[in-house]
Amino acid sequence: MSTKFILVINAGSSSLKFSLFSLGAAGALDPVVRGQVDGIGTRPRLTAQDGAGSKLVARDFAVGEVREARDALRLAGAWLREYIDGGEVIAVGHRVVHGGADYAQPVLVDAEVDARIEQLIPLAPLHQPHNLAAIRAVREWQPQTPQVACFDTAFHRKHPQFADLFALPWKYYEAGVRRYGFHGLSYEYIAEALAQLAPEIAHGRVVVAHLGSGASLCALDAGRSMDSTMGFSALDGIPMGTRPGSVDPGVLLYLVQRGMTAGELEHLLYKESGLLGLSGISNDMRILLESTEPRAKLAVDYFVYRVARDIGALAAVLGGLDGLVFTAGIGENSPEIRARIMRACGWLGVVPDAEANLHGGPCISAVGSEVSAWVVPTNEELMIARHTLALVTGRGEKNDI
Ligand code: ADP
Repeated sequence: MSTKFILVINAGSSSLKFSLFSLGAAGALDPVVRGQVDGIGTRPRLTAQDGAGSKLVARDFAVGEVREARDALRLAGAWLREYIDGGEVIAVGHRVVHGGADYAQPVLVDAEVDARIEQLIPLAPLHQPHNLAAIRAVREWQPQTPQVACFDTAFHRKHPQFADLFALPWKYYEAGVRRYGFHGLSYEYIAEALAQLAPEIAHGRVVVAHLGSGASLCALDAGRSMDSTMGFSALDGIPMGTRPGSVDPGVLLYLVQRGMTAGELEHLLYKESGLLGLSGISNDMRILLESTEPRAKLAVDYFVYRVARDIGALAAVLGGLDGLVFTAGIGENSPEIRARIMRACGWLGVVPDAEANLHGGPCISAVGSEVSAWVVPTNEELMIARHTLALVTGRGEKNDI
């Protein structure tokens, strides 16, 4: 019998990431390939590693060959077909950034779902078109393969309504101007992992800090998302690599009144701000931590200050705090940033264990700390693969759209 696989695709504007999971006994999912095509439209390059991290391929392509997500998928697909050598991809799961107000679960893609994803493009114009292009390309080439859309917003749909609001006239809420929240697949994975790692904490009040090049915080009450720092877009909340986090809207009004166009504003907010904008040096936390430049130090201080401030706000949402979890690039790899954030959260009852923090945990709080602190590596791809398998084998929850 040929090996069965689940393929996971995360298609962006300049890169397409893919992961392949083999299906073992009793539905076990084993990561066998993790790869990407990056430099789409500039310097296209296909790279992939096996489950142990060993290099499988690194190949450059001419820019004319890979201009969009669809081209990247064709290359990755051709390589994967050769690699799995007769194995069968039984389903494809996609990360789709926006599921709007309705999708609170992943869903099997049919013509109606395709149309809904398209309608949501104005809410996520930088990501949604690439997600949809990948879905359509797979359907064109492999029409018989079921596809599942996993939305980054879905996990937050059980927010209390006031966590979804802006105090704008009601007609805007009805037109979709709401606080959706993002990084939902990461938070869902963390909630599940925490239930295994520390069940007593997972049943309590937890703030998860997803600190990568995109960054947000999520308040979990017994594993359910109660609020998060990202809102209508992935710009709000805490500062990120090149995005500012919350900015007084009066600043944006001021810039527009002084002649800045929507396109220029978009570029400023998505590409030029955050750690990069403040430091003037880099969006990479590693470089800033090593730098002796005063503005690099200021950017890091601001990052820690805003993260700690918003952890306090989310602890207020939860009515107290039992656990604090760090994840994603910075959260998983920077003992210094974790230590500084934990120190700033001392008033909440977080007492760090310096040695455990240096070694990456998983538990990084001292014995007797009122609030326990954890490092839990996120795995959004595995979450997508699990959802995809559950839906195609009929074990998924029914979507309540
Ligand atoms: P993405 O949001 O692109 O998935 P990641 O979660 O991979 O981002 O995080 C990438 C960021 O993590 C990098 O920009 C870098 O700033 C940060 N990072 C990775 N390793 C370290 C480290 N050892 N120390 C500090 N920051 C790190």
